[in-house]
Amino acid sequence: MEHQEYQELLAAHALDALDASEARALTEHLDVCAECRAELDEMRDAAGLLAHASTPAAPGDEVRERILKTVRAESRDRPRVSARAGQVVPLRPYAPRRLWPSVLRLAAAIAFVALLLGVIVFWRRDLRSRQDLAQLHRQLDSQQDELQRERDMLARQREALAMLNSPDAKKMALAGTQTAQNARAMFVYDQKSGRGMLMTEGLPAAPADMAYEVWFIPKGQAPMPGSMFTVDAAGRAMISDQVPMEARENAVIAITLEPKRGSAAPTGAIYLSSPAS
Ligand SMILES: [Zn+2]
Repeated sequence: MEHQEYQELLAAHALDALDASEARALTEHLDVCAECRAELDEMRDAAGLLAHASTPAAPGDEVRERILKTVRAESRDRPRVSARAGQVVPLRPYAPRRLWPSVLRLAAAIAFVALLLGVIVFWRRDLRSRQDLAQLHRQLDSQQDELQRERDMLARQREALAMLNSPDAKKMALAGTQTAQNARAMFVYDQKSGRGMLMTEGLPAAPADMAYEVWFIPKGQAPMPGSMFTVDAAGRAMISDQVPMEARENAVIAITLEPKRGSAAPTGAIYLSSPAS
């Protein structure tokens, strides 16, 4: 027998409906065929499921006993042609005619349950592969997000590096206040153009409806709002900002926690601040 033929026996085997010689042959094939072994496992699993589902078509113990008896009798009575050429094997008489209706009924039950097994196995495989596909999509999406974040970060790092090398660059260190003692930040900006870059670390994660807001506080004037931002798990953020003309000399830069839409004037606690000039 070929692999394909053994495969057709798997459902019957999962239902214990093979005769001894078929079962033996299949068992030998299973020893060398991982694909059939895997499929049989699935069939048995599906058969277990059916047993719990109490499908009316599934044969009960008594019916199963009768099926086995019939199957055995049938295989005994089945005319066999010898492999040796020329040898004629006498035909045994068929099973009594009155047996046929019940045999057919039972065979139909077996075939139906076997069909059911196949359907369940395929349905589960399809379900599994669809779940796998969905998971792959999710992984791909998150990897693309990650890649985009890294690209953005790299671009900003390059921008920051260029700014650090500019002769007009001004660096300001921001220290964490009592509210965020582990936080620190660096604000670098071009005094001519006002283009600036803020790099933070150690800031606590902002609540869902809140975000950090940058404030430029020119000496003797009211705070001027800058960018809003949130931080990653390490409290890091890297954002660009525009320093208002009034704040390019002698200003303090501070970070507060504000409602996400932003505030016109600081309302929350100060997390980071440059030293007063
Ligand atoms: Zn096989």
